[in-house]
Amino acid sequence: MQLYPLFADLAGRPVLVVGGGDVAARKAAMLLRAGAQVTVGAPMLGPELRQWVQQGRIAYRAGAYQSDWLAGAWLVIAATRSRPLNARIAADGHAQQRLVNVVDDPALSSFQVPAIIDRSPLLVAISSGGVAPVLARRLRERLESLLDPTLGPLLQLAQRYRARIRARHADLAARRRFYDWLHDGPVRALLRAAQPVRAEQQLVAALSLHQEPKAQGSVILVGAGPGDPGLLTLRALRALNEADVILHDALIDARILDLARRDAEQIAVGKRGGGAHTPQETIHALLLEHARAGRRVVRLKGGDPFVFGRGGEELQFLHAHGIACEVVPGITAALACAAYSGVPLTHRDHAQAVRLVTAQCQHALTQLNWPELAQDRQTLAVYMGVSKLDELTRQLLAHGRAPSTPFALIENGSLPSQRTLVGTLHELPALAAQHAIEAPALLILGEVAAVAEASHWHGQLLGRYATRSSTATLADAA
Ligand code: SAH
Repeated sequence: MQLYPLFADLAGRPVLVVGGGDVAARKAAMLLRAGAQVTVGAPMLGPELRQWVQQGRIAYRAGAYQSDWLAGAWLVIAATRSRPLNARIAADGHAQQRLVNVVDDPALSSFQVPAIIDRSPLLVAISSGGVAPVLARRLRERLESLLDPTLGPLLQLAQRYRARIRARHADLAARRRFYDWLHDGPVRALLRAAQPVRAEQQLVAALSLHQEPKAQGSVILVGAGPGDPGLLTLRALRALNEADVILHDALIDARILDLARRDAEQIAVGKRGGGAHTPQETIHALLLEHARAGRRVVRLKGGDPFVFGRGGEELQFLHAHGIACEVVPGITAALACAAYSGVPLTHRDHAQAVRLVTAQCQHALTQLNWPELAQDRQTLAVYMGVSKLDELTRQLLAHGRAPSTPFALIENGSLPSQRTLVGTLHELPALAAQHAIEAPALLILGEVAAVAEASHWHGQLLGRYATRSSTATLADAA
């Protein structure tokens, strides 16, 4: 072991920081968080440090560094821009047996400040011994994303009730099970739902129960985004990491399922156009069955669960059956396809509204409000429309949308196989057929789509705006 790990209690203890710039300010800020009594020494101070001196939060030694500044300091941080000066501070400090850190200079330092993940009272510190700071930083990012921010408040709660938990569960094994329940069960869920008072009430109620609290199942409706795993939210990733069972749509990318906990059971409840179809009632029954068995269930849906995803129905059903639920939004196809084809959905001059429309209605397509949909100065984002492009185009033209209205039809948006087809409304069905565009694809129709030909950046571009130059701009579309 190259370095001895330690967590120092600096509360009320003098610490010296030499340097007056941004780096020194960052170091001082961290020391203040740990309650240290910070003195900063430098000829001049930056605005932040100056403010802290004025507020009396730190002490200030003005002028050029002198070795007597070290007197009384438990730790020394050298954060000046001059390496010879930093070396002198380190040498002086070491002669007096102080621990010295020279920022970004392990060779001169006798201690290093690790990368941390702060979920106080839990603190994770990472060091690569100065050998691989990039690796340490990446690891920190990974852990930062995996450790839910409610971990801190949960541990604080557990700390306050520690004696009562110990008294109630004298047996070690029972106590462990109680702590597991605390981490995985309703208390944690209530903290995530920003309801700390109810979380504490749950804990108190559980402590007054005769039996141990039973593991309670829960369901999280999670939006998986359009396909690219990079578009998952941190919450979605955490939910996947903690799941016992994952009920997922057929369209979910395998790379996303690969991110899930290894021993989570995965159940496809696919509804792929034409293929195997799981009735909604079966999905409801499965959710209920697994949650009632005490499992943490993730219902993973493409895009966002509440946009053409029947997530609302599932949530209502589960609520009606008393199952604890959370919802994690995802990036819906319209937003992802717009971004990945370079098309802004709104524009100051050309589109003051966006409509998310589905071409897959319970009723016939004729029941959509075509006069409204055909209005200009708005963008239509049409989901599930590939097989309905003929009728869609006919109705929009019949209700007055200009034949020259530009469109972008994005197939497999955000995936490596993305294809973006551009053209004008009147030629939409023919072009889509010519290029054999298949589901999943999203249609963006409106003046804003005119920029796709020039600003599209992901995957393959097909077609062109027949009546426009290849560098069509929104000004041309006006
Ligand atoms: N809840 C989903 C939509 C489900 S409906 C969401 O918020 O995105 C399924 C339709 O979404 C598909 O028919 C297609 O129109 C669209 N869609 C989903 N993923 C897509 C993708 N990667 N590229 C293009 N369209 C997509």
